[in-house]
Amino acid sequence: MQTPKKIAIVGSGLVGSLLAIYLRNRGHVVDVYDRRPDIRNVEFSGRSINLAMSTRGWRALEVVGIDEEIRKIAIPMDKRAIHTPDKPVYYQYYGKEGEAIYSISRGVLNRRMIDLAEEAGARFIFNSKVWDVSLSDATVHTGDSEKGEWEPHKYDLVFGADGAFSRVRHKMQRQSMFNYSQHFLEVGYKELTIPSDPDGAHKLNKHSLHIWPRGKFMFIALPNLDGSFTCTLFLPFRGKESFEVLDTEQKVERFFKSYFPEVMDVIPNLVEDFFKNPTSFLVTTKCYPWTYGDKVALIGDAAHAIVPFYGQGMNAGFEDITVLNDLMNLHNDDWKAVFESYQSSRKPNTDAIATLSYRNFLEMSNKTADENFILRKKIESWFYDKHPDLWVPLYTRVTFSDRSYSEALEFGDFQREIMDEVMQLKNVEKDWNSERIESFILNRLKEKEHLV
Ligand SMILES: Cc1cc2nc3c(=O)[nH]c(=O)nc-3n(C[C@H](O)[C@H](O)[C@H](O)COP(=O)(O)OP(=O)(O)OC[C@H]3O[C@@H](n4cnc5c(N)ncnc54)[C@H](O)[C@@H]3O)c2cc1C
Repeated sequence: MQTPKKIAIVGSGLVGSLLAIYLRNRGHVVDVYDRRPDIRNVEFSGRSINLAMSTRGWRALEVVGIDEEIRKIAIPMDKRAIHTPDKPVYYQYYGKEGEAIYSISRGVLNRRMIDLAEEAGARFIFNSKVWDVSLSDATVHTGDSEKGEWEPHKYDLVFGADGAFSRVRHKMQRQSMFNYSQHFLEVGYKELTIPSDPDGAHKLNKHSLHIWPRGKFMFIALPNLDGSFTCTLFLPFRGKESFEVLDTEQKVERFFKSYFPEVMDVIPNLVEDFFKNPTSFLVTTKCYPWTYGDKVALIGDAAHAIVPFYGQGMNAGFEDITVLNDLMNLHNDDWKAVFESYQSSRKPNTDAIATLSYRNFLEMSNKTADENFILRKKIESWFYDKHPDLWVPLYTRVTFSDRSYSEALEFGDFQREIMDEVMQLKNVEKDWNSERIESFILNRLKEKEHLV
């Protein structure tokens, strides 16, 4: 049992509100600050970004017993539905039978999580921006404006769960030996919505993550409970086909007609929505250290924002909490030890998922429709069926297991090396499921038995 502390969490997003539940269950006094109004009173939030929740996320919810509650607002997606021009939709299953990722609206999830955190006894202070944190004495300073008067609030500990552009991290950046990097993708995104049919049914297969890969850009759609789909167009900011050139209604219409004609048919206000909805950036941020003494720690996107192409940003943030919780069990009141082990064990893993997420962007937009890629996936899945203990596919390791991200990256690189060689074997397209291919892979795998 830990000695109860007075703890401030900056940020009532998904990670901040789940952390509040964990800390309240341990008996700490928890205040959560957010610069925004209470999301539960904001009209549009049910139609925000959709997230894919997978094993790491569910584990973190299970520990505090709220997984069943959250499943009620989630839709399982067991496959990708790939839409290529002039071909029927092609379905690629994510894992084995029963394995699925879950589509959840970020806004709906956030509202529910805040409710649950409040029920657990956390106090939420909305419309309260934290401008500064005194690191050595865990004091947060709130106020109406940067230049105005700030009010100090003293705590025993402060968690910065304030997202990719964290103010808490900003303060830590002013310390010597604090490393920080940010990398913006040259691709941005815009949200659009496919409404439900008049009878409330989904217009596309409900249990799929739909992808329209088109080389340098793509369109995806995730199902909502109300029959609609939340869609995202990922497109370069500049260049021949880009947000920059889509500056008139005619151009937008022409663009969708040539690349996504099916989408035009199912979004009635496409052009209007295109101009109404904002174009957003995608950023990867890395930093270290994540903690200051036994007083302050960063968590979630504040410590490691990643691009969304592996669907792991929130999942990784939730896993931060699971790890932190295990370390609280281990080190009890020794918060310095908790924080040190937390940052040193998590950092290699969040760097690994940042790399994997970036690579998956290239895979999703370029390769999902490529014949070679499809054969590769077919061989991997055939070998996995025969040797489920020897060849857990990278996607499965990341999405349907809680083995470390860095191990997934290392083993994934090794699998890629093997598959590059397999794809070079003569006539592989004819005998891809033969004994020859099987023994080739088995022999190569012997080199890294420790990772299997
Ligand atoms: C397009 C897109 C798709 C995504 N898809 C997935 C997916 O499929 N699966 C997945 O796992 N993840 C996905 N993610 C990532 C996921 O959304 C984030 O990782 C997750 O929301 C991070 O949660 P967080 O609580 O750390 O930060 P945030 O959600 O950013 O919350 C931070 C909170 O802090 C508050 N705040 C900020 N500054 C201050 C301040 N100074 N004072 C007080 N409050 C402050 C903000 O108002 C906000 O409420 C996606 C992200 C994007 C952009």
